[in-house]
Amino acid sequence: MKAAVFNRPGEPLQIQEVDKPTIESDEMLVKVSRCGICGTDIHASRQGAFMAPPNTIFGHEFSGEIVEIGDKLAGGNFNLGDRVTSLPFIGDKTIGLGAVTGAYSEFVKVGYDLVVKLPDELDDQDGALVEPLAVGLHSVKMAGSVSGKSVLIIGAGPIGLTCAIWCKFFGARHIVISERAPARIDMARQFGFEHFVDPEQDVGAAFIELTGGGPEVQFECVGAVGLMQECVARAPKRGLIMGIGVCDNPDTIVPLMAFGKELRIQWAVGYDKEDFEFTIEMMVAGRIDAESMVTNVVKLDEVPTIFEALRQPTNQCKVIIDLSA
Ligand SMILES: [Zn+2]
Repeated sequence: MKAAVFNRPGEPLQIQEVDKPTIESDEMLVKVSRCGICGTDIHASRQGAFMAPPNTIFGHEFSGEIVEIGDKLAGGNFNLGDRVTSLPFIGDKTIGLGAVTGAYSEFVKVGYDLVVKLPDELDDQDGALVEPLAVGLHSVKMAGSVSGKSVLIIGAGPIGLTCAIWCKFFGARHIVISERAPARIDMARQFGFEHFVDPEQDVGAAFIELTGGGPEVQFECVGAVGLMQECVARAPKRGLIMGIGVCDNPDTIVPLMAFGKELRIQWAVGYDKEDFEFTIEMMVAGRIDAESMVTNVVKLDEVPTIFEALRQPTNQCKVIIDLSA
């Protein structure tokens, strides 16, 4: 099968012919229809602690059709032809970041317990958006209740944006987004967000000016050194700081400042199966609409070029690979 393969950092992905995944008796094979390109993939293609091993095929935000079912699963919940998405795990192995071949390819194998059927109301592109939406949902759930709270979202990339979408869904009182990139601000405006601050300015002061108080909950969705301390500095008494962005460098905060304000810092990563299911339910109900996050749809052959382009600040939000032939 054809796949876009990561060989080493500093080198574009390569379109190669690779072996189709072979399934175990408790696994299934999915013919990929759509797969999202994720910031995590770009991150994992860079030199550093988070780097994926050579010959990795990325792709963990996918949808497609079941074309093979392992013996042990015959007569179970799934049938050939079912349209599905899946949490990107088989047991403790991650799909699309090294251990299991991902969906920048024609076929991807999945387990069974983390596979979720797509209802007829959702198309395959919606199916590929479930994963990034579930990340935001899980992050907001991990924050406890955001209802009635004043929230600051730091960074309006796809994950910051999905956090903002779910904060609105769960009834946050004020949502302010700290972002510089005009394209990301325009995208957030399309989702109905109105309050933006420039991260180069005094974000805390700007937040107070917009909302009349400090940010009770802050979602740090960038993952850069120094941002946690900025959150600590601007947090109000008993504020909550959510660590969502991936920072793989050492960072420092001044504990005394956090101590004096009795702050909480909560990290969140990934999602549970129920986050996928809830996201799908809300998409079907029309209460969450992520379609306008998609700024570009490309064919597999175009992946190496677009993947390189996404390393630089760009006007893209979510880029989807269309593998349906
Ligand atoms: Zn992702």
